[in-house]
Amino acid sequence: MKEGIHPNYNKSIVKCACGNTFETGSVKEELKVEICSACHPFFTGKQKLIDTGGRVDRFNKKYGIKEEQE
Ligand SMILES: [Zn+2]
Repeated sequence: MKEGIHPNYNKSIVKCACGNTFETGSVKEELKVEICSACHPFFTGKQKLIDTGGRVDRFNKKYGIKEEQE
């Protein structure tokens, strides 16, 4: 196949703040996210991410997840 005949929709590398990287389809070549399915307790089932700046809390609110914090 020749290059340039496809739209700018290719596999992109997503880099998470936790260090995890994974591929996804996007028009952007590289994406950076603060949190991903590999590090979020909602997906992992366990808390292993230090919540800095309340980003997990915001994430939980976004998805309607109630999390008890001491
Ligand atoms: Zn992550």
